[in-house]
Amino acid sequence: MANEKSEAKTLKEQLFATQKHAVQRMTEEELTLCNSFCDDYMNFMNTAKTEREITTFLTDELEKNGFVPFQYGMKLKAGDKIYLNNRGKSVILATIGTAPISEGVRLCAAHIDSPRLDMKQNPLYEQDEIGYFKTHYYGGIKKYQWTAIPLSLHGVIVRKDGEKVQVRIGEDAGDPVFYITDLLPHLATDQMKRSLAQGIKGEELNIVVGSMPFRDDKESNLVKLNLMKILNEKYGIIEEDFLSAELEAVPAFPAKDVGFDRSLIGAYGHDDKVCSYPAFRASLDVPTPTHTSVVILTDKEETGSDGNTGLCSSYLKYFLMDLAECFGENGRHVMSASKCLSADVNAGFDPTFPEVLERNNCAYLNHGVCVTKFTGARGKSGTSDASAEFVGEIRRILDDGGVIWQTGELGKVDMGGGGTVALYIANLDVDTVDIGVPVLSMHAPYELVAKTDVWAAYRAFKVFLES
Ligand code: MN
Ligand code: MN
Repeated sequence: MANEKSEAKTLKEQLFATQKHAVQRMTEEELTLCNSFCDDYMNFMNTAKTEREITTFLTDELEKNGFVPFQYGMKLKAGDKIYLNNRGKSVILATIGTAPISEGVRLCAAHIDSPRLDMKQNPLYEQDEIGYFKTHYYGGIKKYQWTAIPLSLHGVIVRKDGEKVQVRIGEDAGDPVFYITDLLPHLATDQMKRSLAQGIKGEELNIVVGSMPFRDDKESNLVKLNLMKILNEKYGIIEEDFLSAELEAVPAFPAKDVGFDRSLIGAYGHDDKVCSYPAFRASLDVPTPTHTSVVILTDKEETGSDGNTGLCSSYLKYFLMDLAECFGENGRHVMSASKCLSADVNAGFDPTFPEVLERNNCAYLNHGVCVTKFTGARGKSGTSDASAEFVGEIRRILDDGGVIWQTGELGKVDMGGGGTVALYIANLDVDTVDIGVPVLSMHAPYELVAKTDVWAAYRAFKVFLES
């Protein structure tokens, strides 16, 4: 009969894994929630662009939401909210659960640093009447992508007297921006023969910061002098103060809807704000969890997680130990009983470059948040490789919570690869698995994600923190 399903079709429905576009699985109501959540995300992206600005933004929001700075030995009960600001560059927030702390915490980890151009410690120079800043890039970038775009400058300068000057210029309407030049195609015959990796070299990433000389016929370096005069008037600094500065140049583009259907978001630094922000919001939306929820938004992931604001340091471990001791428990036992979603972006399948991903094991835009069992490269080197048992548990939590998710790995075998902070947390004896939003053009000045995947990430963190 025409309407009867064939045995093969019925069996396929029972036995085969299926994947559908998120929109085919979401109600109109959920899509509305998704779009409004993404509006909030884009606002956040335009407000806070660097690890320091995000830490400031988050601590303000946390204070507004009843979080108080964590103090060792403080008396804590279910529903209490605490946070730790690690040197102004990373944040841990926690909400005390109703279950004893000895049953472990639910931990979400993401990073708030993104690839960028850092100023060198002696950055300012003048060459042929143009003023420049010398840079050293931070994280893995394709250098040629960072030329000929507007850049903004963010960070701090610590003066000799100890005063810390905040810098944020190039984001607000009316602000000037900064710029790295590239050769005109007419004269790029030699440059075009360079490999893409060498197309723009590290020492060619020099940022134009001015061209107006101080009025004086006799002296040299007058453009530099005029720039120093402006900086002195604006920030009270002299040239030596750059020695103790952290200045970061990032793309000055705002986050925008992408596409006629507005289904995508273009922005600088989705990696890994697109996981950090949803994890932070999820934590606010679980006011009294069963298990104590901990969200760590860390720094230094893009340079390998070393340093005292990165996850190779002990600051997470110390926090969990101190937290355990507030309840008279041993931190080591709390860590061993804990579970973690290590939240970081993954490579989305790009139809223009299909050859680098394996179609059965990669993440697709609009197919939900991506759970990655293992990362690493060259025979899984450098991965914590989550256990089947733990992946099974996460799978049940996500499915029971109606979260749209998929699995995927970062590229074909031996194509390259990359790591996340998962191993550093797993090394604390915490069950840990990677999860994150698929991104196109990762590490480019303007990256692309799908709105439904951002929403799916938020939903995943929320149901996990509720578990
Ligand atoms: Mn990342
Ligand atoms: Mn990255």
